Amino acid sequence: MELVRVRACRGAEGCPHAVGDVAGAAEALRGVLVKTRAAEVVREKAGGLPRVHDQLTIAVSGCPNACSQPQIADFGLIGAEVPQLHAEACVGCGACVEACREAALELHGSALTLVPERCLACGACIRACDYGALTAGESGWRALVGGRLGRHPRLAQELDGYHPLERVEATLETIVELWSAVGRPHERIGALLERVSEDRDVPLHELLRGGVRS
Ligand code: SF4
Ligand code: SF4
Ligand code: SF4
Repeated sequence: MELVRVRACRGAEGCPHAVGDVAGAAEALRGVLVKTRAAEVVREKAGGLPRVHDQLTIAVSGCPNACSQPQIADFGLIGAEVPQLHAEACVGCGACVEACREAALELHGSALTLVPERCLACGACIRACDYGALTAGESGWRALVGGRLGRHPRLAQELDGYHPLERVEATLETIVELWSAVGRPHERIGALLERVSEDRDVPLHELLRGGVRS
């Protein structure tokens, strides 16, 4: 059994929905796992013959469809691209509204508005616009930590914001180092982060500040 597993969605091979370089991000995270000797940490925390749920799981998805299931991985990434409107170029054709599955774009007459709380930053509207009126604004990776299945399943918690690759690399490094230093036998990343965050009375994003720098 693999001690660490990095699963990348097929965005790495050219899925039209992919935002960001999925293969590149997966490779970069593999590099972090080697650098932090994560496989050795897995073996140590498993205390002998590691079982499937001792495995450290990483998942990278190119869009919110999340085909590699980052929500149930110890550490997951989802590509993100928030549209930026250039109103002077918009002809009010409505193609972007049609393309948005979240009803996050509204056309009132010829005025287009974005409802930010509905937007999943999938970038579909940007690809749908033939007039250059929507371009990629804020972009990067959504970072999810601590997802798991097993006896006590839970979905990963998402860190605020959209992060550049180097920041999520640093975040993963921080997590593995923390796990190595204070992780208990068989403790999963989600449980570890919850416990340490509570014990130190430090919110998760601050606990991971070493990696999640603004
Ligand atoms: S997660 Fe998105 S980009 Fe990746 S394979 Fe699925 S649909 Fe394509
Ligand atoms: S697709 Fe482009 S031109 Fe058409 S309404 Fe949307 S932003 Fe405007
Ligand atoms: S990025 Fe995706 S969710 Fe956001 S407005 Fe565009 S199509 Fe809708």
